[in-house]
Amino acid sequence: MSGKEETVLEVAGLRKLYGKKQALKDVTFSLKAGTSFGFLGPNGAGKSTTMKILTGIVKADSGHVKLFGQDITNDTDAVARFVGYVPQDITLYEKLSAYDNLVFFGEAYGVRGIDLKHRIREVLEKTGLTDRANDAVETFSGGMKRRINIAAALLHRPKLLILDEPTVGIDPQSRNHIFEMIRELNDDGVTIIYSTHYMEEVEVLCDQVAIMDQGSVKAMGPLGELLETYGRKAIYVEVAGLTELPRLPGVGKVSKEGSGWVLETAKVGEVMQQLLQAASLHRWDVKQLEVVRPSLENVFLTVTGTALRD
Ligand code: ADP
Repeated sequence: MSGKEETVLEVAGLRKLYGKKQALKDVTFSLKAGTSFGFLGPNGAGKSTTMKILTGIVKADSGHVKLFGQDITNDTDAVARFVGYVPQDITLYEKLSAYDNLVFFGEAYGVRGIDLKHRIREVLEKTGLTDRANDAVETFSGGMKRRINIAAALLHRPKLLILDEPTVGIDPQSRNHIFEMIRELNDDGVTIIYSTHYMEEVEVLCDQVAIMDQGSVKAMGPLGELLETYGRKAIYVEVAGLTELPRLPGVGKVSKEGSGWVLETAKVGEVMQQLLQAASLHRWDVKQLEVVRPSLENVFLTVTGTALRD
C-alpha cells in the first residue's frame, strides 16, 4: 500500500484524571499510514478516553498527540479535517431522514453543495442503505443507525477513522456490513483505529493490536507477533481408552480438556514427534492430534494476568 511508511499518528505519555480516578496513566503509541489498529481492552480500560483525546473532545492532563507530524493537542481544526470519529453512543436526529442527517453532519465537517450530494450518495451506497435514505432514522434498527453514524464520519474523506466499539448491541447483518466497510476503507488507504472488547473482531479486522488495561497500553505490535510472543503454544491429543499420558520431555503444563489433554510446550515439533513415536510404540488409537493455535485470548491473559470477559 502506498505511503504505508508514513507515520500518521504519534501519541506520547497521555495522562488523564477524572477526579481521583486515573483513567489514563501513560498511553504511548504510534501508527503508520494504512494500518488497521485494534484497541483491545475490557470495559474501563481507558479506550474511549484515549479516543476522545485523539479527537479533541477531552483534554489530556499531560502528553502529546501528533497527526501527520503536526502537534494537534490544541488544534481541533486539524483534527476535524483529517479525522472521522464514530462515537460509542449513536448521535443522530431521530426525526430526520438518514439523508438529512448526512446533510447536517456533512456541513458540520465543511462539505457543501454538489460535493456533499455526491458524497452522501457514495456513503449511502457503502452502508447499503441507499433505499432507506428518505426514511426517518427512528424507524431504523440499532445496526442501521450505527451504519449511518459511520457514514456521517466519512463524508469529508478522513484519512484516519476512529471507531469506538461500533458493534456493541447490533445485529449480525449490520456487523458484517460494518466489517466490510472498514476493510474497504482500509484497502483504500484509510488508517483505522478500532476499539472493542471482542477479541475475535480484532483477529479478523486488525493488523496491529494494542492491549489496554487499567489506563495503559500493556502490549502492542502486529497481531502475529503478539501471538508469537505471548500466545500459549500447545498440542491437543486425544487417545481412545488412555487414562494417563506418559510424561514427555519439553512439555510444561498438561491439562485435561474434553476427552483429551492440552500439552503446553515451546517445542511443538519435537513434542509432536514424541507423541507420534509413543502412539506407534503403544499402539494408541489416536482420535485427535493437533497443534493448538495461540489465540488473542491467551495473549490477553499472559499480558494482563486476567481473562477478558464480555
Ligand atoms: P473504556 O472505553 O476502555 O471502557 P473509558 O475510557 O470509558 O474506558 O474509562 C476509563 C476509566 O475512566 C473508567 O474507570 C471510567 O469509569 C472512567 N471515566 C471515563 N469517563 C469518565 C467521566 N466523564 N467522568 C468520570 N470518570 C470517567
